[in-house]
Amino acid sequence: MKAIDSREEIRARIKSTGCVICGFNDSQRALHFHHKHGGGKNRSPSIVLHNSTKETGEAHGIYAFAAEVVKCILVCANCHAMIHDGKIDVETYPTIDGTSVLSVIEEIKAQAKANQVKANQGRRGKTTKRRLS
Ligand SMILES: [Zn+2]
Ligand SMILES: [Zn+2]
Repeated sequence: MKAIDSREEIRARIKSTGCVICGFNDSQRALHFHHKHGGGKNRSPSIVLHNSTKETGEAHGIYAFAAEVVKCILVCANCHAMIHDGKIDVETYPTIDGTSVLSVIEEIKAQAKANQVKANQGRRGKTTKRRLS
């Protein structure tokens, strides 16, 4: 459960800036990662995140995702279609900023750690109560 939460959160945070071309930001589902120099379907950041997490665990999965996402630009479904139609040249648009991706990851990891400490404290509290009664 926890793994899915932080993965979703990282994706959501990275997508929070909206389409780099037109600024669309009304639906995260309609925001895609487009590989600037071609990546193929199996290099889609979301698929990399899913597969790496399954194979090597959440921490590795998140960094594999970060490594893939910085090769991409964030675009809405409409702009994405126009890119693939050859109607938009992506060269002038910046890829997703790696520094901000890493800071989002650090922030979410720190948050998860804090939550875990809280959860452990809660558990400890219950144990104490049980021992007292
Ligand atoms: Zn694309
Ligand atoms: Zn757009």
